[in-house]
This record gives sequence, structure tokens and C-alpha cells, in this order.
Amino acid sequence: MKEELEFNQNAFDNIDMGKSIIALVDCDSFFVSCEQKVNPELKGKPVCVLSGHGQCVISRSKEAKKLGIPMGIPTFKLTKEMKKATLIAASQDLYSEISNQVMAVLKSLSPKVEIYSIDEAFVDLTGLSRLYKKNYYELAQMIRELVLKKVDIPVSIGVSSSKSLAKLASDKAKNIQGGVFLIGAGKLNYVLKNTSIDEIWGIGRNLSKLLRQNGILTAYELVQKSDSWLDKQVGIRGIEMKHELLGEMVSVVDDSFKIPKSIQKTSAFGIFTSDIEFIKNQLNYHIHSACKKMRRLDLKCSGIGVMLRTKIEFKVYYEKITIPSPTCYEWEISDIVFSLLEKIYNPNIIYRSSGVILDEFSPNSGEQMFLFSDSEKKQKSERLAQCIDKLENKFGKNIIQTGFIKSDFR
Ligand SMILES: [Mg+2]
Repeated sequence: MKEELEFNQNAFDNIDMGKSIIALVDCDSFFVSCEQKVNPELKGKPVCVLSGHGQCVISRSKEAKKLGIPMGIPTFKLTKEMKKATLIAASQDLYSEISNQVMAVLKSLSPKVEIYSIDEAFVDLTGLSRLYKKNYYELAQMIRELVLKKVDIPVSIGVSSSKSLAKLASDKAKNIQGGVFLIGAGKLNYVLKNTSIDEIWGIGRNLSKLLRQNGILTAYELVQKSDSWLDKQVGIRGIEMKHELLGEMVSVVDDSFKIPKSIQKTSAFGIFTSDIEFIKNQLNYHIHSACKKMRRLDLKCSGIGVMLRTKIEFKVYYEKITIPSPTCYEWEISDIVFSLLEKIYNPNIIYRSSGVILDEFSPNSGEQMFLFSDSEKKQKSERLAQCIDKLENKFGKNIIQTGFIKSDFR
């Protein structure tokens, strides 16, 4: 422990095992932090977020952990003491909206960001030390402060010269003051000796068992093994793991494009309202930006969903449909969204936000004409969409308002 403290003070570790510097930015108790962001009176209190149907705990605040609430506990097993915590049902759309905001801040700082999960991203910091005139510890602190200031979400950051070590560092960052942990050449052996193989990224139960049977209990013991031994026992993955743990970047920060699982456009209204026309207007705005994104990615969707969130309880109403003939056009999606809206809208409820969720994507070009679709209409739609996108690219966002629901192109 004493030794570890000394290492923390030695924060200006000049990481030089490899040429790259990688940070893993990991949001602290992410789902709970999101709930605390939208409901600040929950800050500093025991709070738990429950899985979709409310059966078990999937995120806990520090204070909830202190009450002894274990991760994954089913709600019926909570003791009287544990029930002092505020229990909240998960709101996936809220979390992905806030996740996007966190990722946007990271992308504004580094050109290479790999979104690893909803609350974690690898950020390539190589060369940024010079750009921002800060050492890597200060740089990580700056990222942490910026995310907190702009999005109001606390993060922990691990910094090292490979992804595996950055991940390890971020686990250690969670438990120290300041939320930043660096693993550089000076600390490497100490950290590896104090890391059990189960803590290493990518080592599952089976591999852990195999390594243990061979007397390998720590990361340090793993890196002592020869490449040929690891190749024979574990395969290429074992060799890669060893070199990553020695600080060589085997797996690079991959910021390449992946087809998104869904495109979600949601936002809070400027005012709380029950006004259906206002809500439709907001939805049209979301539909338009989602369609634009879809066309930019050359995709069309079959899954169309709409959601409304209530003012008082933050309750979400959601309705989704899968259409037989995929589309990427506002005027087609708008009709469908409005008919879904009718199913969830209640004039007696006041709402705070709305959103559109598109998924089940397929490539737009080279499409098979749907049996009953009218090809002339399709071509007209395509030309109209191209026209809108061109105008917007030239004259700026939202130069064209989506008031064309009743247009001739339907
Ligand atoms: Mg996290």
C-alpha cells in the first residue's frame, strides 16, 4: 500500500515503453452518473440503476456500494438497509444520448478515438503532449475536467503505451484520488507483479484456469514466458497479450467506421409540453437529421421507433415497427412515426423530450426493388433527397424545414 502511494505521487511517469500513448477513458458508474446529471439532487446519495425490467442492480453510486449493495443483486434480495438507496429503472436512450456527448468531447481532443462500449473509449494521445504543452498526467486531468465541465459525467483515465495496460491503469485509476493512473516504464514491473491474471483484459475463465495450471498467477509471470511457449499453450493471442503487457501496441486504436446498430436522435424540449403539433415538429426535426445521417452512410432502415419521455417521472413511452420496404426518406418515415406517436401520446401528460430511433439497416445502393413499390416514386424521392442534402451542404444545416409531409412526392 505504502509502495502504491509513492507510485501515485510519482505521477509524471514518462511512459516510454513504446512510441504510442493510449488512454482508456471510462465513465464512473455511468448509468447512475447519467441519472444524477438529469436529477442533481441524487448526487452524493446512494443510487442504483436497475435492469430493463427492474429485476437487478446494474449500476451503483459510491454511496450505494458503501451500503453493501453488490453488483447484479436481484431487487427482491435487497435488505432493509440496502433499500435506503434510490432505485431507478434504466433509460437506455438517455444513456446513449449522454454517451454521445462524452464521445464528442473526446473526439474534439484527439483525432483517434475508438468507442469501446457505451461508457469507455480508447483515445490515442500520441503527440498530444506537445500539442497541448502538458505532460501525460496533466493531459489526462484536462480530459477529465473537460468531460465533467461539458457533460457533467465523472470519468477515470488510465494511460500507458498499449491498450491492455491502459485498461489496467483505468481499473487502478478508479480507486485513487484524482482518477488518473499512469503506467510507464518506471512502474511497469511493480504493476505487473501486483496484477493477478484474472485482471488482465481478455483473459476469461478458461484461459485463467489453463495459466494457473501452468503456475502463472500474475501478469509478471505471464510476460516471463517465451513467445514459443505462449504460442503452443495459448496461441497467437497469448503472444499478443504478453507484448501488450510489456507496453508494445499490438492492437491499435481503431477509429474506422462501423455500421451503427441504430441511429438515435433525441433531445429535450426547450419547454415542457403536451402540445401534439409541437411534438410532431420536434420529431420531424429528428427524422430529418437521422435521415441525413443515414444517406451519408448510404444506408436505409426497416426499423422505425419513436419515444416520448414524461416531465414528472422521466418515464419513457416507446413504440416501434418494422416496415417491409426499407427507406431513408423523411416523408416516408414521418408518416410512420406519426402513426406510432398516436399509440403512445396522451394529451393529459406533459412531456420533456422526444426521439426517433432508426435501426435494422441495409445498404442503400444496389437495392432490390420491393415487389409492390412504385419505382417512379422511388426515383423522385431519391432526387428530392439528393437535392435537399446538396442545398444543406451548401447553405448550412436546416436551411430546409421538414414541412413537406404533404408534398406531391408521397
Ligand atoms: Mg465505467
